[in-house]
Amino acid sequence: MSDCLFCKIIAGEIPSSIVYEDDTVFAFRDIDPQAPVHFLVIPKAHIPSCGAVTPENSAVVAHCFEVISQVTKEQGIESFRVVSNCGEQAGQSVPHLHFHVLAGRDLSWPPG
Ligand code: AMP
Repeated sequence: MSDCLFCKIIAGEIPSSIVYEDDTVFAFRDIDPQAPVHFLVIPKAHIPSCGAVTPENSAVVAHCFEVISQVTKEQGIESFRVVSNCGEQAGQSVPHLHFHVLAGRDLSWPPG
């Protein structure tokens, strides 16, 4: 989608610190990290949020989680949190489905 920030990052129009890339999934470091490890895993296809996942597009969501498992293993990260904010009230600021991966400090629960 031409006016989507994350689609522009995938296209290389906006620079990012790439953690992983394949044909369908892209991962890059969050520009405003909330933990010593904080990267985002996103489908290359423009899916607006978790609320737009359907039987037709959900395979890439499973693949995002395979990537999360692979990258955390490669980085020696044993304990981590995965978060996906859906909608404004939940704190979603970029309307392109993304999974935050956070690690490297104690993470409180429940979140604020
Ligand atoms: P959310 O608020 O859940 O929609 O998450 C969006 C995330 O994107 C935030 O954690 C931002 O810090 C991050 N973000 C925004 N712009 C960029 C960028 N250019 N590069 C990397 N991360 C970004």
